[in-house]
Amino acid sequence: MRVIAVTGSASGIGAALRTRLEGAGQRVLGVDLRDADVTADLGTPAGRTAAIAAIGAASGGGLDGLVACAGLGPQVEPWPTIVSVNYFGAQAVLAGLRETLTHGDQPAAVVVSSNSSTVPGADGPLVAACLDGDEAEARRLAAAAGGHPAYAGSKLALTRWMRRQAPDWARLGVRLNAVAPGPVRTPLLEGGLAHPIYGPAIRNFPVPTGGFGTPEQVAAAIAFLLAPESAFCSGAVLFVDGGTDALLRPDQY
Ligand code: NAD
Repeated sequence: MRVIAVTGSASGIGAALRTRLEGAGQRVLGVDLRDADVTADLGTPAGRTAAIAAIGAASGGGLDGLVACAGLGPQVEPWPTIVSVNYFGAQAVLAGLRETLTHGDQPAAVVVSSNSSTVPGADGPLVAACLDGDEAEARRLAAAAGGHPAYAGSKLALTRWMRRQAPDWARLGVRLNAVAPGPVRTPLLEGGLAHPIYGPAIRNFPVPTGGFGTPEQVAAAIAFLLAPESAFCSGAVLFVDGGTDALLRPDQY
């Protein structure tokens, strides 16, 4: 039985992933603010430390998979919390459990990014502050920039961190990859749709396949990246966005 830790397991994509993995006979260690095996606030250094310790203990010293899924949408205030959860919370849990993953069976970790990370303007000082590990400066920049820049920047930084780490992790025997969802029907998206500014923007976002995705579709992509069948994937970003990234950045490759 594989043991997989999933942050953000109480809702949306994380909950769908939990259902899928448990349905396949795997053991899930869920981390969330509520309704989880490990209750912790990943927006704070103390919560991150407690979560890492609790997952390490519950896993028995070897973890086969880890998914950094917990996150806040761009409509959530105060805006600095977005970078504290989406970048610093995710990065800390991944880094803090890398050693435990090396003791797992064909271990893999997956970062839940977003296709918002590739929108023009996402890159800048906030991304640099995240990658420098300067949470105070990243929070200051997020407070000044607003919700969407904080969200897009935190997801770009997390994806770039993943790409920088993946080769070293692979040499240790742990694969590290990302999924980048587009709009997916979850409470996070519903919160955005209800927002007076973000709501119309989300509805007007071009999605070539049409409509919104489901949490189960993203969970399927994460499950693939966790499984031994993706053993040759490392440092990959799998867009699960109905083709939006291809539409907006066709010449990226
Ligand atoms: P969701 O709100 O349904 O679930 C997010 C979960 O994260 C919740 O259970 C919440 O309690 C948890 N969480 C939030 N702050 C936390 C904290 N401080 N500590 C611990 N847990 C915390 O949202 P979702 O749509 O399932 O989002 C999952 C991930 O997918 C997020 O990282 C989000 O940015 C990403 N994503 C979502 C969409 C979308 O359209 N839904 C698109 C792109 C990326």
